[in-house]
Amino acid sequence: MTLLQVDGVTKQFGGLTAVNNVSFSVEEGQICSVIGPNGAGKSTLFKLISSFLVPTSGQVRFDGAQVSGLKPHVAARMGVVRTFQETTVFKEMTALENVIVAHQLGLQSRTLGVFLGSRLARDENAAIRDSSSEILDYLGLGHVKDERAVNLPHGYLRALGIAIAMAAKPRLLLLDEPFAGMNPDETNRAMEMVQGIRRRGITVLLVEHDMRAVMNISDWIVVISFGSKIAEGKPEAIRADEAVIAAYLGE
Ligand code: ADP
Ligand code: MG
Repeated sequence: MTLLQVDGVTKQFGGLTAVNNVSFSVEEGQICSVIGPNGAGKSTLFKLISSFLVPTSGQVRFDGAQVSGLKPHVAARMGVVRTFQETTVFKEMTALENVIVAHQLGLQSRTLGVFLGSRLARDENAAIRDSSSEILDYLGLGHVKDERAVNLPHGYLRALGIAIAMAAKPRLLLLDEPFAGMNPDETNRAMEMVQGIRRRGITVLLVEHDMRAVMNISDWIVVISFGSKIAEGKPEAIRADEAVIAAYLGE
């Protein structure tokens, strides 16, 4: 089933066309990567898909419904959830507390006051705590649950950013350059994390500059250069594609 459909999307900033009539679709349960040289329009495309930008023309459809033009939090409630390049982590709280807070914010604090102290609230808080703890476990962060975020190394902080996004219960998780600034060990762990997320039935769309990093984990790759799609296909085909090689060599 097609979960995400990007349909002839264009974004202009004044006279500059950052994304030019790009179309592709993402099948449910797959890991799809958008790659391209610096300045190709990846981050702009990412913001168009997560509703942080409105396309100049074209549209983005999620599970059959138009999401372009919606407020980002409305799209998030429909299941389109993004992470942020700068992690939005509360530094003084522990990893677990960060995920718990993200859960609670996602629940729109369902009139917490009314239930405060009631058995219902205690049950609900216990459920949130369990679910937050489980997210950290399957992302491989179980052992740093009670560490304060401020003490976590860079790779773990980035991973915590993903755990926070998972608290919003995405159907489509959008990752902007998840491997940027990571050493090879951290990259390997992050790749395992992305595969673990997909095993739980969540579709992943990631935007990445480093072509090699996405080759192993992607089911489908879309390549953009100067705002336009120049190729799409399985990793083996992309690796051998002359237009793709030329675009990266010209960087
Ligand atoms: P990438 O993420 O692939 O490096 P971007 O999407 O960030 O590329 O940028 C694509 C092009 O759009 C660049 O030329 C960039 O300068 C331009 N651009 C991005 N955002 C804006 C903006 N808000 N206003 C004007 N130009 C922008
Ligand atoms: Mg970018």
